[in-house]
Amino acid sequence: MRQVKRIAMFGGTFNPIHNGHIALALSAARATGAKVLLVPTYLPPHKSGAGVIDGADRLEMCRLAVIGHPELSVSDMELQRGGPSYTVDTLGALAEAHPGAALYLVCGADMLVTLWQWRRYEEILQLAQVAAVWRPGTDKGDYEAAAARIRRDGGRVLLIEQKGIEVSSTDIRERLERGESVEGLTPPAVLLYIRERHLYEKKGADRI
Ligand code: ATP
Repeated sequence: MRQVKRIAMFGGTFNPIHNGHIALALSAARATGAKVLLVPTYLPPHKSGAGVIDGADRLEMCRLAVIGHPELSVSDMELQRGGPSYTVDTLGALAEAHPGAALYLVCGADMLVTLWQWRRYEEILQLAQVAAVWRPGTDKGDYEAAAARIRRDGGRVLLIEQKGIEVSSTDIRERLERGESVEGLTPPAVLLYIRERHLYEKKGADRI
């Protein structure tokens, strides 16, 4: 019997990508058996553009970060589309490009608790199964209540446990601005890219 193709969309600003993102993506790939597609946003709907560096650099860092992980890949579809990056549009485009594929929406626990605020939430639930991965620092009760609410709304939710890594892109940007080391928080190739291009140093930090 032919296996159904499984595609998991993992959107993020990735400003910059870090080891927490990679750990999450690998946990999702293991739990779903899907190829996990990292999709850097053009304009995240829930964040102001301030401090978000050029999409080409965020994309390249994602590409460097997935080297050696064949279960992960990177898509520039939101950067190509431009405008606000709505997940529902990206899932719709994936469904059209891969008819019959099983789609997953990968997110961290902190994003699961906001899912019903996303644009055309009900349509998202029709298009994809939600694969939420634990993120340290999230309230466990809120996380489980969010999963229950989404299931009541007709969604299919997979809760994926992982120990997790307590790091955020904000942490990394702040450390770099202060001239501190971010070694061990992001893959070495990403770190090299940041250093060579002087990304996130104070003077360049508010380019978009
Ligand atoms: P920022 O600090 O700039 O807000 P971030 O580190 O939260 O960024 P995003 O690019 O906004 O990263 O997040 C993309 C996705 O990755 C979200 O679903 C978020 O929940 C998840 N995520 C980010 N960091 C972690 C982490 N350390 N562990 C698990 N999930 C994470």
